[in-house]
Amino acid sequence: MGGPDLRSQLKNLPRLWGKADLTPAQVHYLKKVLRLRLGDPVILLDGQGGAFRGLWQGETLTELVALDHPATEPPRPIWLAVGVLKGEAMDWLIQKATELGVTTLQPLTTQYTQLTPSPHKQQRWQQIAQEACEQCERLFLPTILPVCSVARVTCPHRNFIAVARENSRPLATALGTYPPQPVGVWIGPEGGWGPLEQDELSQKGAEPVSLGPRILRAETAVCSALALVNSWLEGEASASGKEGLTDLR
Ligand code: SAM
Repeated sequence: MGGPDLRSQLKNLPRLWGKADLTPAQVHYLKKVLRLRLGDPVILLDGQGGAFRGLWQGETLTELVALDHPATEPPRPIWLAVGVLKGEAMDWLIQKATELGVTTLQPLTTQYTQLTPSPHKQQRWQQIAQEACEQCERLFLPTILPVCSVARVTCPHRNFIAVARENSRPLATALGTYPPQPVGVWIGPEGGWGPLEQDELSQKGAEPVSLGPRILRAETAVCSALALVNSWLEGEASASGKEGLTDLR
């Protein structure tokens, strides 16, 4: 992106004639966490596709200028559903899924995961996603949906359900039979999918796929599946010279 490397993702920043007022939390972040001095430059990502350079002046940013930014979004939306994992594994998963371009993440309760995360988890996960966006220079924040039971969730895209220990065709093979398009990926919890869940998802049109002969941890399965999806989607973008998100989510 060029310019100073101080970066802060301030969502829904109001902008008026090159100037933006900051909330007390934003001022605290710039002053106490980034330890800026008045007049220091900051790069702002507004989480909705905008990148701006501005000067920090205490409670305002001045001289805001829109920046060009290389396209960092996947060419098509990537929707990921995953059984809620215990402890830090879920934080790690959210960080990596954000880096790998997920546009929507649906945490699931399933037959073998009855974890009901506390309400502040949702906020924490969104914060982790925001920090991951800053680190990997994504301009759009992924949406992290509230935890929901697998039976109540549907995804409007072409869906693939990762199933261990079955003779399903590999995800890479399955993807290759379709033109690149918005995609939904379903990864089970540590205990795997319950028998009825797998049937229900198949009936809703999700195709069972394999991620190889080894039994991967759920967070490894997420990374493996997303790497394949990225390669499928980006292959199309580089072949056609197209860059960035082409479909609205
Ligand atoms: N407890 C399950 C078992 O022993 O069969 C394994 C669950 S695995 C740790 C968690 C999730 O990762 C699975 O539900 C599946 O979605 C995905 N997964 C892991 N390895 C996979 C593989 N080789 N192929 C497809 N999916 C896999």
